[in-house]
Amino acid sequence: MSDAASSPPHALSLRIAHLYPDVMNIYGDRGNAIALQYRCEARGIAVEVVDIRLGDPFDPAAFDIVIIGGGQDREQRRIAEDLQSRAEALRAAATDGMPMLAVCGGFQLFGRRYVDQDGGTIPGISIFDMETRHPGAAVQRCIGDIVLTTPLGEVAGFENHGGRTYLADTQAPFGRVVRGYGNNAEDGGEGARTNNVIGTYLHGSLLPKNPAIADELILAALRRRCGEAVTLTPIDDAAEQAAHTSAVTAARRSPAIKKDP
Ligand code: GLN
Repeated sequence: MSDAASSPPHALSLRIAHLYPDVMNIYGDRGNAIALQYRCEARGIAVEVVDIRLGDPFDPAAFDIVIIGGGQDREQRRIAEDLQSRAEALRAAATDGMPMLAVCGGFQLFGRRYVDQDGGTIPGISIFDMETRHPGAAVQRCIGDIVLTTPLGEVAGFENHGGRTYLADTQAPFGRVVRGYGNNAEDGGEGARTNNVIGTYLHGSLLPKNPAIADELILAALRRRCGEAVTLTPIDDAAEQAAHTSAVTAARRSPAIKKDP
C-alpha cells in the first residue's frame, strides 16, 4: 500500500482545472479550489490550479480534477457556448473516472439543459442525465442552509437557486435532503453523482467545511494516476471538522421547508 504523503510512488503533483473562475464564482465557490490545494499540500502533494477562462485552450486529459462554480442565468448564458465546445472532451474525461465538482449554475449546465427564468434554453453538456427548469420570477427561490445525508456522510452548505432540477430515473443523486430544498423542493434528492463527478447546489463554499468531499475528489484523482492502492494520510483538520459540525448543526436547526404548491 502506498501512502500519498510519506512514501509516494513518485513525486506527486496534481493539476486542477478551474473553469471560468472569473464568471462562475458566487458565495465563495473559489474556496473549493483553495481547499483542494490546501489539503493536498498538507500531505506533501504539489498542486497547480489553472484558471480556464472563456476561449482558453483546455485539454481535460492534461488535468486531474475539474471544478466549476455557480452563476446566475446571465453568467450561465455567457459561458454556454464555450462550455459546449468542450463538452465531448469533458464527457470523455468523466467516463474515464476524472473527478469533477460542479456547483449550482455549473451543476445545472452539467445536465442536458437549463430552461432559464425567461424560458430560453441553455444547452448543457449531459454528463448528468437531468434537466433543470426555472419556474419563473414569481415562484419562490430555494434559499437557505441545507444539510444532506450522502454515502460520504453528512454534507452541509448554503443553497440559492430558482431552477428546479429533475434527475432521470437512472441518475443517482449526490445525497438526500435532511433540511433545505435540494434539486426541486419535491423529491428530496440533492445534486447528482456519476463516476467521480459530483454536482450539487451547495455553496458555502462547499469543500472547506466538508473536508470528506474534498478528500474524495483528491483520492479519486490520485488513484487514477497512481493506482487503487493509494490512501490519504490523515491531516490535522480540527478547524475544518469543527466548521463542518457547526454548519450541520445550524442547518439542522433551520425550519423544515414548505413544499412547492
Ligand atoms: N441561475 C441559476 C438559478 O437561479 C443558478 C443560481 C446559482 O448558481 N446560484 O437557478
